[in-house]
Amino acid sequence: MVNDSMNLVFLGTGGAWGIPELNCDCRICTEMRARRESRKRCALLLSGVTNLLIDCGPDISSQLSANPVEKIDGLLISHEHGDHYLGMDDLSAYKRTMPRGKFTPIPVFLTSRAWETIGSRFGYLAETGVIEVRVVEPGKKYVLGQLEFIPFKTSHGGFAEGSVGYIIRFRRKNGDEARLVYTSDFVDVVDAPEELLSPHFLIIQSYWFHEPAQNRPSHMSFQRSLDFIRRWKPLEETFLVHLGDADMVPGDPANSMMKKTVPKHPLAPPSGGAPYPVPLHHDQWQESVDQVVRDYRLPFKITVARDGMKADLS
Ligand SMILES: [Zn+2]
Ligand SMILES: [Zn+2]
Repeated sequence: MVNDSMNLVFLGTGGAWGIPELNCDCRICTEMRARRESRKRCALLLSGVTNLLIDCGPDISSQLSANPVEKIDGLLISHEHGDHYLGMDDLSAYKRTMPRGKFTPIPVFLTSRAWETIGSRFGYLAETGVIEVRVVEPGKKYVLGQLEFIPFKTSHGGFAEGSVGYIIRFRRKNGDEARLVYTSDFVDVVDAPEELLSPHFLIIQSYWFHEPAQNRPSHMSFQRSLDFIRRWKPLEETFLVHLGDADMVPGDPANSMMKKTVPKHPLAPPSGGAPYPVPLHHDQWQESVDQVVRDYRLPFKITVARDGMKADLS
């Protein structure tokens, strides 16, 4: 099965509350507002012959309005945190606008533990035929149209026992198989499957730039993600998503906010010297990442994703 086209659309690239965050006047949010930048809740769309939505947070209606598709063939849910599923009711639109008798429920793939939480709120979507629940198990292979995927178990703290990442396989125009890995929110991977190695594309969380002294919410920083990028060795491109505003910025009075974290050992050039400064907006993020890639001579292309960005994977 060959996909004529396969586009990856970054519907949202922000953390759990999006940035700039409501009520926040930290240096990062202030700078982003001045530049009219925003990162909505994290969601992805693989569009082609098969349209696959990955996560479905509270911004999904505006995200899909800005990046429309006629139908959604399936939804992968990474875990049971609100920013990854609270928009599921908006999928009703795809049923409501379909000619009578033509709609088939949207298959929603997620772990049983994730459905325990999500089903207590959105069970009616299954009962009314908007969605069809497909419980997945880490390590098993699933097929959806022209795509295949394998969930893998991730560690993302006690309130997300059902969290998984996904390895998605598809065929390119030339017939070759390619793999895309989406880690979602995580701090580590349990029993990493072999298919995680050398994926063509990796989408990885960078909630902070510097790893915090206490990683209590069990998220991935850019600094820590470098270990995983080095280990998994993505062949073509790595995309950073789920960016937050919780890094402390030197001199910012907002550093006293509860969400702001002290770095553990801030990422610094290999030759020593001052740590890399915390990026305040998109261009600074990409410049800092490029500098780290050069300084550490990393043989990887790392792109800081932004909302609405598209990548042609075919
Ligand atoms: Zn999240
Ligand atoms: Zn989460």
